[in-house]
Amino acid sequence: MSRPILARIDPQAFRHNYLHAKQRAPGARAWAVVKANAYGHGLLTCAEAVRDVADGFALLEVSEAMRLRAAGFTQPILMLEGFFTENDLCLAAAHQISTVIHCDEQVRMLELAELSQPLAVFIKLNTGMNRLGFPLEQSNAVLARLQASGKLAQIGLMTHFAEADGQGIAEPLAQFEAVSRLAGVPRSAANSAALIRNPEAHYDWVRPGIMLYGGSPMPALHSASALGLRPVMSLASEIIGVQHLRAGDRVGYSGTFTADRPMRVGTVACGYADGYPRHAGTGTPILVNGQRTRTLGRVSMDMLACDLTGIEADVGGRVTLWGESLAADDVAAAAGTISYELFCALAPRVPVVMC
Ligand SMILES: *Cc1c(COP(=O)(O)O)cnc(C)c1O
Repeated sequence: MSRPILARIDPQAFRHNYLHAKQRAPGARAWAVVKANAYGHGLLTCAEAVRDVADGFALLEVSEAMRLRAAGFTQPILMLEGFFTENDLCLAAAHQISTVIHCDEQVRMLELAELSQPLAVFIKLNTGMNRLGFPLEQSNAVLARLQASGKLAQIGLMTHFAEADGQGIAEPLAQFEAVSRLAGVPRSAANSAALIRNPEAHYDWVRPGIMLYGGSPMPALHSASALGLRPVMSLASEIIGVQHLRAGDRVGYSGTFTADRPMRVGTVACGYADGYPRHAGTGTPILVNGQRTRTLGRVSMDMLACDLTGIEADVGGRVTLWGESLAADDVAAAAGTISYELFCALAPRVPVVMC
């Protein structure tokens, strides 16, 4: 028998979530953000699930964009960090892949490049994230310079908010609105959090990512299921050993959990080398044979321990690490991280099936 760990990807749930995002932003088109191999879910699996309904896709690498083109996707595709080399730029133009332009070096590269076809670009403006983008006051100058290049099929303006999931976007949105209002070009600003919370930021294109995978962009405020989202990835495994502890016995590396009474403990075939977060301490929620219980002690590379008190389960007992009936957001919160990181960290050694 093979090691029992398995990730299931539900393309119908992805499709449901994409259509749900579209419903929440009825006036906008929606790029399905599928960077990082669709947040660990598989680029083509997710893209296929929305082939006939997706307005477009957003990702990072020209090679990934070309995989979509090779698979017959004809929608707009946007490279969110733009091109990294002149070769990327030429390939983007040749395959009609749109690109962000966020810095002078990219403008210069574009001006010097020989492109086989006109290119669609979005100029990225910095509204306080201070990661990528031109200062707001340069917006008009960059726009004029790019228009003068004569190499572009279309130019738009975009930004990315630093706190769409927290304090809010009032100030950066007002700044973006002020510089982009009169430009008369397509605009894009909203990630999942702003798509859900800020209809005034929808503009022409929204850019939902995490919500498409059934993660809440603001888990402290709303669970994914309360938002109407369905989990796309389920991580499942089995109990491969059972230990009977006496009061005072400890569990796992460094013995960080001590039993205060006799108890049964299950050893699960899942560890941090599978992508389970090592920082998930005692008490992280986990399902065994459908019943919610908790992890115990440190997560090791290939295994973790769970509390079988009051649970009918032996070796072979079914375990859900996250997925249906156990939100990845809850596991992430217990590990001091976000569902994005859990999904992206799914290790290559974990077999993946579609369901
Ligand atoms: C990743 C990303 C998104 C999607 O963000 P979510 O929080 O996952 O919805 C949108 N825009 C840009 C520029 C991104 O890099």
